[in-house]
Amino acid sequence: MSERPYQSPISPGRSYYEDSVAARPRHPPLQGDASADVAIIGGGFTGLSAAVHLARAGVSTILLEAHRLGDGASGRNGGQFGTGNRLWPEEIEPQIGLERSRLLFALAQEAKQHVLDFAAEHAIEADIAAGQLSVIHRRRFADDYRRHADRMAEAYDYPHLSWHAPSGLAPLLGSTAYHGGLRDAGTYHLNPLKLLIGTARAAQAAGARLHEDTHVDRIRRTGSGFALDTPHGIVTASRVLMATNAHGGTLDAAAAAHIMPIRSYMVATQPLDDPQSVLPGGEAVDDSRFVVRYFRKSADGRLLFGGREAYMSGDGDIAGPILRQIAEIYPHLAATGVTHAWGGSVGITMTRMPYVAVPQPGLTVLGGFSGHGVMLSNYFGRLYAQAVCGGEDRLLAYRDLRVPAFPGGRRFRNPLLFLAMSWFSLRDRL
Ligand SMILES: Cc1cc2nc3c(=O)[nH]c(=O)nc-3n(C[C@H](O)[C@H](O)[C@H](O)COP(=O)(O)OP(=O)(O)OC[C@H]3O[C@@H](n4cnc5c(N)ncnc54)[C@H](O)[C@@H]3O)c2cc1C
Repeated sequence: MSERPYQSPISPGRSYYEDSVAARPRHPPLQGDASADVAIIGGGFTGLSAAVHLARAGVSTILLEAHRLGDGASGRNGGQFGTGNRLWPEEIEPQIGLERSRLLFALAQEAKQHVLDFAAEHAIEADIAAGQLSVIHRRRFADDYRRHADRMAEAYDYPHLSWHAPSGLAPLLGSTAYHGGLRDAGTYHLNPLKLLIGTARAAQAAGARLHEDTHVDRIRRTGSGFALDTPHGIVTASRVLMATNAHGGTLDAAAAAHIMPIRSYMVATQPLDDPQSVLPGGEAVDDSRFVVRYFRKSADGRLLFGGREAYMSGDGDIAGPILRQIAEIYPHLAATGVTHAWGGSVGITMTRMPYVAVPQPGLTVLGGFSGHGVMLSNYFGRLYAQAVCGGEDRLLAYRDLRVPAFPGGRRFRNPLLFLAMSWFSLRDRL
């Protein structure tokens, strides 16, 4: 009898990535008590990357994942690196000044290089491809985007953005649906599940203990460190990294108040009849909508397209609304078959900058990458490990941002967010 295809219990739908890899390796649940120098909660990019770098440095490390590694956002996202943080550097400059803004941008650039180097070093075949188009759905945004490219070259030493007017953009997109955009020749996209599986393999090879199906029910402070209660054993550790991002629930009150889950959805089409009719240069795309549309081709010539978001409602029909969005951009794909439709939870913060916090000595929270975590989460895991091993704590640059909690508390923030998001998505359509 054939085994039923695996389906993540915390994210809807089976992703295309799941079928682009051989069976995912299994890791046994924790049975009995254990101890380690560092216990990591969450087996996405953040937790696994921290585990690799800690274990490689000889730190005894245990990672506890409630479901399967990558079942959160890391195994099922758009795979786009982007550049910098979720906010453009010039958007945060007025609050933190040019020097600190440059520092954050430089760290994000390091994050990009880190993922490339890590994949190469560990021979992870993650279908890495170059290029990004950031395109505008309103003509009036053109000046902003052009100025952004100039500012990035002048003040941030980033000369890779070039403006393309609609006539120049259309052949790059294979569509006339947008009013121009920036081509970023300095960034990449990849198959996230392949990167995740490779990172888990590297963590295990370095000696980290990885446990799936092990939900941490509670974090308790003990005299010298922490005790983590799980269904079949207690883990004691001097330090804890909470890498649960949008899935942390109420495990830590501060993290819950600062990181809010919103759903984002994607589809994969069947392999395109004429793959060169769409993005012939192989770039990934994100657009200027508040509810951003993001798409790219997979290594086997499908269109992977993300669009819809949900804040309070259930997941509903994923494929239908996204197919309509595809048809607006690529009318010739209106009748193309969809093979996969899925979603996941994105952890967002009030300011859309990552949440880096130490709610009590020894307990660190990393998350809230706000849809920009593919490269950042991997690098933050490494920077965390470096700090634990006595190196400079370079995450302080993010900790100092002091991201505020969402207003309304856990109970009322969702209705407030729902109203705000509905207003912004209405503006996308007007
Ligand atoms: C549909 C979608 C598209 C996206 N597209 C992009 C993109 O194109 N580019 C980009 O940069 N970012 C994108 N993102 C965001 C990106 O995927 C995330 O920022 C990144 O993967 C976060 O990694 P993480 O390890 O912090 O969290 P996750 O990968 O979510 O991992 C958290 C893990 O913690 C586990 N966990 C939670 N609570 C417990 C507990 N109590 N005990 C044990 N384990 C627990 C969960 O099961 C989960 O596996 C997208 C996200 C989604 C959902």
